[in-house]
Amino acid sequence: MVLYGANEKVLGMTKRKTYTLRFILELLVLFSVLLTVLIGVISSIRVNTASLTANFLENNFHYARKLASNTTEVLQGMQNAMDALALRSSRQPIPPAELQDWFAANKNFFHSILIADAQGTIRQIVPMVEGAEPGTKLTSPAAKQAILLKKHLISKPYVGVTGRLILLVSAPLFDHQGQYKGFVGGTIYLEDSNVLNRMLKEHFYGDGSYVYVVDEDGRLIFHPVQARLGESVAMNPAIQKALARENGSAEVVNSKGDSFFAGYAYEPITGWGIVSQTPTSRVNESNLQLLKSLLATALPFLLIIIGIVWLLAKNISNSLSRLAHFSGGTVKTGRKGTEIPMTTSKIYEVQKLYQSTRMAMRLVNKRLIKLQTEVRIDGLTRLYNRKMFDYTLQDHIKNKTPFSLVMLDIDHFKKINDTYGHVMGDEVLKLVSKTMLEQTREDDLCFRYGGEEFAILILDANQKLAYHIAERLRYAVAALENPTTSTITISLGIASFPLDGSKPIQLVTSADQALYLSKQQGRNQTTLFTSARHDVEALP
Ligand code: GH3
Ligand code: MG
Ligand code: MG
Repeated sequence: MVLYGANEKVLGMTKRKTYTLRFILELLVLFSVLLTVLIGVISSIRVNTASLTANFLENNFHYARKLASNTTEVLQGMQNAMDALALRSSRQPIPPAELQDWFAANKNFFHSILIADAQGTIRQIVPMVEGAEPGTKLTSPAAKQAILLKKHLISKPYVGVTGRLILLVSAPLFDHQGQYKGFVGGTIYLEDSNVLNRMLKEHFYGDGSYVYVVDEDGRLIFHPVQARLGESVAMNPAIQKALARENGSAEVVNSKGDSFFAGYAYEPITGWGIVSQTPTSRVNESNLQLLKSLLATALPFLLIIIGIVWLLAKNISNSLSRLAHFSGGTVKTGRKGTEIPMTTSKIYEVQKLYQSTRMAMRLVNKRLIKLQTEVRIDGLTRLYNRKMFDYTLQDHIKNKTPFSLVMLDIDHFKKINDTYGHVMGDEVLKLVSKTMLEQTREDDLCFRYGGEEFAILILDANQKLAYHIAERLRYAVAALENPTTSTITISLGIASFPLDGSKPIQLVTSADQALYLSKQQGRNQTTLFTSARHDVEALP
């Protein structure tokens, strides 16, 4: 970007900090483009966040519901299996081999199968479990509950003799008379691989989403982190809802302070709560991806736009800054402005500006020329004025141009004024001035020195020539037809450069002295300063 003009000093004054149009244009466009991109990105991220949030909540909700119904199916299947086994066992004792086969067939569902009597003593068990051999009395709350209720049930998870978290699915045994004989039970070690956790684990997408299940007391019975099994999470808002037998979804913060999009559902047989959840940070990751792809898509366009704007700004600002520099230069130097350059810009306003500036400059130039002339010319006689005289004299001396200075004064001019009035006096001044111009060459400059005194600068130091011109003028004036009744005469004095002086004041004084002599010696005559001096020097 081009940025200049800062703290520029103009005519001794410090200007306020300024910026180029190009800089402003580029800045403006860059700002608008970035703002547009920013707005686009923000709104895309908002839409993305809203849709992802809705999606995650919806998906987790459906998944929790689906898992709840699958769990119901599995549990019912297990319960049915136990009911069938109980029926089979109530008819006649099951030979160990048959029980072994039966276990083998249902290995996917149970870790062990047992048959216990009405006192809770194990009669048969497959496979053999240390500490739970036939003859061992079952003391678990689940076994006690099964005996107490005498009906089929799915127990609350409990810690067994082996220290493992166990779920017991049981069915009561009755004899032909309807006498309660005990129960058949299938156990599931919740920490080990089993049909339920295999089903629940399917949900681990590797994106941080996971499922967990709590029993009706809010204790974890399935969780990807095994160590957490048994832990109570009853305070979790999603769990509270599920345990209150509600299905739904919500954004929740867990005990560790992590927030999730959670879908929750309850399992009606057991009263378990199932929660499927995805970390809310997934939205941020997705937004980051979105941002990256948005920027990657927008960047080429952004660069193209900036390129186009750069060219446009360059075009506009080049034309305008050329104009500004041109006008500025003219104003600063005060020189007569040359014609404004043409512009190739296709922009209407720029062209118009060029046109109007060109017209304004022409007008200014015209006025400038007139002013410059007026400043040098005497208003009455139209001869060069005293100011111009001083300047020209100095200039000639500086350039060492040899010249002769003729100073002249109208004789008895006061009388003309007194007799005929000032207006007539002015007419006489004009007449004499006109005659001066007529009787001198173009290179010889005529001045009104002041009042009725005039000067002529003859570009030649040849006194004879100067004298000749002076005399010719004197005769011409005397011969003038003038508005008065008397003849107008003039007295003249001549000094030459460098002969009679090397400074303006010396030369004027010399010419004046010569003129004074002309007056003294009777007026209407020309005196050369050099000869006058000789005359004076020749005096005794
Ligand atoms: P001399 O022969 O000694 O020069 O006599 P003079 O009468 O010309 O004397 P002087 O030079 O002193 O008089 C100049 C007079 O010119 C005085 C003044 O009133 C008159 N004058 C000066 N400027 C102007 C002018 O612009 N217009 C008119 N009408 N008179 C002027
Ligand atoms: Mg005079
Ligand atoms: Mg006079």
